[in-house]
Amino acid sequence: MKQNFAVIGLGRFGASICRSLVAAHQDVLAIDISEERVNALADVATQAIVANAQDEDTLRSLEIGKFDHVIVAIGKNIQANILVTLIVKELGVPDITAKAENNTHARVLARIGADQVVHPERDMGERVAHHLLSPNILNYLAINDDVTMAEIKISSPEFVGKSLTELNFHQQFGLTVIAIQHGNDVTVSPAGNNIVQLNDEISVVGSTQAVDELNDRMM
Ligand code: ATP
Ligand code: ATP
Ligand code: CA
Repeated sequence: MKQNFAVIGLGRFGASICRSLVAAHQDVLAIDISEERVNALADVATQAIVANAQDEDTLRSLEIGKFDHVIVAIGKNIQANILVTLIVKELGVPDITAKAENNTHARVLARIGADQVVHPERDMGERVAHHLLSPNILNYLAINDDVTMAEIKISSPEFVGKSLTELNFHQQFGLTVIAIQHGNDVTVSPAGNNIVQLNDEISVVGSTQAVDELNDRMM
């Protein structure tokens, strides 16, 4: 489904969002106050324009309210970031993602109606720390506080060369195996006769505690 996106602020973060959306064949309007930053994305974005997004009339004339999603990627200038978020909200944008510089800023953005508040440096820091502590967890999705989906690398010999029936993750850990990846081959909803090999990546869902227990057994 093709949608209209506007990215306001073309630093490393905004530019990266812009490139990723274009790579996914979406229409992207790129806006920055700096001509140099706009020029750098002129060949990438559907349209790239130099504008001060704090100016409400400018955003009105761009019909920003008709966009499906607006990403406010202005960083260091917290005041500009908040004002722009407020203006695009008032102009009726249905889905707004705004970048926060700190926790208080994040709270303000949520209050004024940002639908997604992202804090890339903090979030990436958390992910990197998580990965350092649990190198065998390749992907992790907290479904809620108690239930987790995780992709775990088989790195302990105790699991190697055994079938899912023998391993019986369901009984042993309370985990359901939803996929096994061997090299580039993925088996979804694997049957019990599938054999697990060293470095296979199994995707499991179950209690967060159970995921942690399985992960501990891989160390
Ligand atoms: P990043 O951390 O993403 O690399 P940065 O540190 O280069 O960003 P920021 O201060 O976070 O810079 O601002 C991101 C972009 O937002 C800059 O390119 C800046 O010119 C732009 N910007 C700042 N204020 C406005 C504004 N009022 N209207 C439009 N663009 C703005
Ligand atoms: P972030 O983007 O993570 O918020 P930042 O933009 O505030 O970081 P950086 O220039 O990326 O700042 O530097 C990160 C930290 O590294 C700063 O706290 C800085 O003081 C520290 N730092 C920079 N150079 C050195 C150095 N040579 N030795 C030790 N610490 C350093
Ligand atoms: Ca994988």
